Amino acid sequence: MKVLVPVKRVIDYNVKVRVQTDGSGVDLANVKMSMNPFDEIAVEEAIRLREAGKAEEVIAVSIGVPKAQQILRAALAVGADRAILIHAADDPHVDIEPLAVAKLLKAVVDEEQPGLVLMGKQAIDNDMNATGQMLAALLGYPQATFSSELNVEGNEAIAVREVDGGLQVIKMQLPGIVTVDLRMNEPRYPSLPSIQKAKRKPFETRTPEDYGVDISNRLEIIKTVEPPTRKAGEILPTVGDLVDKLQNEAEVI
Ligand code: AMP
Repeated sequence: MKVLVPVKRVIDYNVKVRVQTDGSGVDLANVKMSMNPFDEIAVEEAIRLREAGKAEEVIAVSIGVPKAQQILRAALAVGADRAILIHAADDPHVDIEPLAVAKLLKAVVDEEQPGLVLMGKQAIDNDMNATGQMLAALLGYPQATFSSELNVEGNEAIAVREVDGGLQVIKMQLPGIVTVDLRMNEPRYPSLPSIQKAKRKPFETRTPEDYGVDISNRLEIIKTVEPPTRKAGEILPTVGDLVDKLQNEAEVI
């Protein structure tokens, strides 16, 4: 079975995001970009499936600007076998919306016929949490969203899902979609030789036109604002003062 892993290039999770002064979006000048952290987990899980003999090939795919090549190389360096870059934008501020991404991924699935699509539950830049679900709908495939554990046996997958107040275990027939949560695994680091080896792995570049997919956006971002700054705290001398403030100033008790 092939495993397809869609990976998105996003602002590195350690970066303190700044909003552009005109409020049109996030400032990306000189900002470190990395693979979406949930997608790193999906890549790791796909590689573990191949190492366990449950998958034959791991294909990483990214949709975006040519520099998304870097995160595909990172996926190859930790063990993915092949990469596909769909060159869909030149301006890094252009975010391809989940429906367009899902349509492109459907086209890749139609071509590659993977048994499993393992992807992040959400991209940390736009927090959409929509692409996996849309892809499952477009393909008519079963989906296990927010999965924290995955077992593949033959043409069945058993996933443990993180739901409110507990865990849910579900079984689905493959081919299917699994979107991964933080606790599924700890991604490995690439070794120096594997970074070198990754440069020789198959790497294909395509365009949305190759797949006949219209990627025009359907949403307009009206404005982006920074979160309000928190007011400084106050140290009170006694519990009585605290109760007084809660009663008479904050009026919460
Ligand atoms: P989202 O629905 O935007 O929160 O993204 C959920 C998941 O869809 C991500 O974790 C990725 O696995 C995948 N995805 C979203 N956008 C892209 C993209 N431009 N290229 C590749 N995969 C993507």
